Amino acid sequence: MSEAPILKDTARSSGREALQKNIQAAMALSEAIRSTLGPKGLDKLLIDDEGRTLVTNDGVTVLETAKVEHPVAKMMINASSTQDRIAKDGTTSTVILAGEMLQNAWQLVLQGIHPSTIARGYRNAEQYILNCIDEIKLDSDEEMRKTVVKTSLAGKGHASMQQKIADLSLDAVKMVADEDNSVDISKIKLISQTGGTVEDSKVFQGLMLPKKRISSDMAKEVSNGKIILIDGGLEKKNVSTDLKLNVTSIGVLESFRQEERHMLMVQVDRLVEYGVNVLACRESIDDDVKNYLVKHGIQAFRRVSRNDLNMLAKSCGARLVNSITASTPSDLGDFISSNNIAIDAKDFWVVEGEGKAATIIAKGSTVDIVGEVERCFDDSLGVSVQLIEDGAVVCGGGASYVALARRLRRFAETIPGREQLAVEAYADAIEVIVRVLAENAGIDPITTLLDVVAKQTNTDSDRFGVDLATGKPEDMFDTGVLEPLGIVKQALIGATEVAIAILRIDDVLWAKQDMEMPELPNDDM
Ligand code: ADP
Ligand code: MG
Repeated sequence: MSEAPILKDTARSSGREALQKNIQAAMALSEAIRSTLGPKGLDKLLIDDEGRTLVTNDGVTVLETAKVEHPVAKMMINASSTQDRIAKDGTTSTVILAGEMLQNAWQLVLQGIHPSTIARGYRNAEQYILNCIDEIKLDSDEEMRKTVVKTSLAGKGHASMQQKIADLSLDAVKMVADEDNSVDISKIKLISQTGGTVEDSKVFQGLMLPKKRISSDMAKEVSNGKIILIDGGLEKKNVSTDLKLNVTSIGVLESFRQEERHMLMVQVDRLVEYGVNVLACRESIDDDVKNYLVKHGIQAFRRVSRNDLNMLAKSCGARLVNSITASTPSDLGDFISSNNIAIDAKDFWVVEGEGKAATIIAKGSTVDIVGEVERCFDDSLGVSVQLIEDGAVVCGGGASYVALARRLRRFAETIPGREQLAVEAYADAIEVIVRVLAENAGIDPITTLLDVVAKQTNTDSDRFGVDLATGKPEDMFDTGVLEPLGIVKQALIGATEVAIAILRIDDVLWAKQDMEMPELPNDDM
């Protein structure tokens, strides 16, 4: 290939070669997490660059911890992260689906079909699915929702742990749901603690922070008052680092100090004027100020993280201020109660505002276990939000994917030309979920898929999937393996998006030659 001189320091691969390399990278990534899918999926031991270890079954955690340089692999990881952000669950499925779509696309390319024809067919298939996906949905009641959240934890921890996490997550989400069932998940605070077991985890109404008021002379509980949130501190400047003073006579430094102290007190006077009862600062509060606050009956907390201050702001309708001097009464928030309590000998500050909030205290016996419990909550809270916002569910165990693939094949027959093959390839690709679930449970993937398809076709039911308890096709509604419609939908959208994006790349240019290709486990492409 004759390169333009302007590209002489640039390595380049284009056309089919570029596509092949890109698909290999995407496949390598999906191969890497395939074995974690489903309740029989295995765990991965991750070691980060500082030598910390982590055992997890969570697809997105594996991908985000891995140091991956390849840009196409990064696109796949982004798809998984997006799924994590939007739907919380289904992160492994997204990557597996995208990998399979690309592998099938490559087979079509080898048959001489142009990638843009495939991309068009895939887009068409996705649109068709999104139009008919409501046909397979089921409405859920309270009991079903608990089962759905539990399914999302399959393969993570043991059954009673799943039950506990599922119950707490649904409770927390219900506590913060608005009248129209919309949920702002950032109103739920998760505090994780070692000690005890996951069974000791609890959910509380209101916002709890692992904090204690700065002086026990301050009121323990205050009701119906005003709160100020300061994104800074109430302390004197450190002379040696923050300021340069020209000390010309004895006593100048002391009078400077006094003036500073005075200024701080003036600030507290302003709070008294505003009628503030509770104060929270991101930084420190000097002892002098503390005593003055006690004197004026103000309850105060220091070193509250910005994240927590933002949650407080949401819950009490307050605005963070940089300093008291810069504040106006409209920045203050209102609370119903601000209480100091102890749970299992640990101090908590509990704030209840008009804005709803909930706090989960997650427990586990060791740091590793608490970490995994936290990741479980992440998934199950996401699933709970989906269920409260829209109760629609579909059958799990790959049932929904097979049901959609059956519809797609019928649709494919109506499409003229080569695009038809792409729609069929897409249908084959989404059935990968059944195959991988079977594979990970040690049962034959091909036979299982064929059995599930036959069962759905013969009974004209969309509910049959692979039940990993029996290893046979079962009605997943009866076995109680259900998942939110929103998660399946989002996984399909995300996977199609990244597969099409990768198919559309026909030229790769990079400045250095040392970009590493991830190893492909089986090089049969
Ligand atoms: P993801 O990160 O994609 O959510 P998971 O490892 O959580 O991956 O696996 C989810 C898949 O496992 C879903 O397709 C779900 O239907 C399936 N699944 C969960 N429990 C069962 C079960 N008992 N039998 C069959 N499939 C199950
Ligand atoms: Mg999951």
